[in-house]
Amino acid sequence: MSAELLVDLERAVGPDHVRVDAPTAWRVAPGAAAEIAEVIRIAGRHGAVVIPVGSAARAPKLRGVERPRLLVATHRLDQVIHLDETSLLCHVQAGVTGLGLEKVLAPRGMSIGDYPPSILGSTIGGLVAVRTPGKSSVRHGFFEDAVVGLSAVLADGRTIHTRLAPRRATGPDLARAMCGSEGTLGFITSVVLRIHHRPETRFLAAFALPTMDAAIAATYLALREEAAPAGLRILDGAEAEHWYGPGVVGADEALIVAATAGPTDLAACDRDLIASAVRAEGGREADTALAETWWKRRHSAEPWPGPPPSFQVTATPSKLRGAYHAVRGAVAAAGASSRCHVSRFDAAGAMLFVTFVAATGHDQVRAAAEAGARAAGGWLLGARARELDPYLTALRAALDPDGIMNPGALTG
Ligand SMILES: Cc1cc2nc3c(=O)[nH]c(=O)nc-3n(C[C@H](O)[C@H](O)[C@H](O)COP(=O)(O)OP(=O)(O)OC[C@H]3O[C@@H](n4cnc5c(N)ncnc54)[C@H](O)[C@@H]3O)c2cc1C
Repeated sequence: MSAELLVDLERAVGPDHVRVDAPTAWRVAPGAAAEIAEVIRIAGRHGAVVIPVGSAARAPKLRGVERPRLLVATHRLDQVIHLDETSLLCHVQAGVTGLGLEKVLAPRGMSIGDYPPSILGSTIGGLVAVRTPGKSSVRHGFFEDAVVGLSAVLADGRTIHTRLAPRRATGPDLARAMCGSEGTLGFITSVVLRIHHRPETRFLAAFALPTMDAAIAATYLALREEAAPAGLRILDGAEAEHWYGPGVVGADEALIVAATAGPTDLAACDRDLIASAVRAEGGREADTALAETWWKRRHSAEPWPGPPPSFQVTATPSKLRGAYHAVRGAVAAAGASSRCHVSRFDAAGAMLFVTFVAATGHDQVRAAAEAGARAAGGWLLGARARELDPYLTALRAALDPDGIMNPGALTG
């Protein structure tokens, strides 16, 4: 059976693009959407499963998957199909990375948008297939909001194109179901993305606030006024000291570093909205060099001060302050200290990055922090709304009755 499967795969994509990975696993690299469709049909005929692979930032989830596995990579789908500079739309194959797309767009004065630079090594297919809180920007929204349409191959080898006309006049938007489906509903082969002009100006600013509560309140005051910064981070006193040395702000104070960007007038307006919100919460301007250092680190021009955060939790705007105090209180009660920064502000809230300092019994401290975060209404990284699982299960069963498409994903 394995020999027949190999012959079929080699016939579909060429022998140079099939590699035996393990006795019952093959790495396949199709060069076109039609080849992906053929590989999926082959998987169906041989009782194999299909696991899409982008830049492979995370190892695929294979728990409980006993059937032959086809790890289907997208790196040969690396073309920008069409760039419409008037409409600011870009049709791109799924295997193009964010960085690859930026390289095409930058000389033309365009950009994917102000998304965290750390995500740009991922493929466009992977970015759309996994909807995680890191993939958003206050200025440009969630990454999936930029998806105007997509093409995907379903479990039976059929291809759907969700963008047949400039405006989707009727019916549900099927592209939304594919966003975040981690390859369980279909294999994304190309995406039409909304893109942006590169900003004319970028302003950096830093502010000291009397407390974390005041810093969070000032940030949401500015965001409610519709300020749309390119990036914004709040550091508590301990985190500010770790980043910049002692004396930048007091131990109970907080630091905001912010970047605003766009046409000059708009960038200045956003910066002024943040500054006036800071003043309303009793804050003051701080040395701009602090924001410049942050921006350089964010864009890898300087290393971040380690170690990486021990713990991440998201919370809605109204629960952010409570989650901050609950986590830090729980860590202190477990006998450790901590420092924290808040970033990734988007329409759904923001993320707390907490680092345990000099903690022994790390697992115990983490358990305490998790309990504190949950009690305050926060969501731990990777948590999903399980209440929706029956709908997802029904959709998966209808589209993929034989369980071909990434069966290990979205199950944990
Ligand atoms: C469960 C999970 C949670 C994650 N959480 C975070 C997070 O919170 N923050 C963060 O920054 N990163 C997170 N990641 C890392 C994530 O992998 C990257 O952020 C990025 O989305 C992946 O891009 P990639 O090109 O490396 O895709 P890969 O890592 O290769 O693939 C990621 C997932 O998407 C599927 N996939 C890839 N390409 C396609 C395609 N063309 N069509 C359909 N499905 C496809 C894969 O099968 C896999 O399930 C998470 C990854 C997974 C799998």
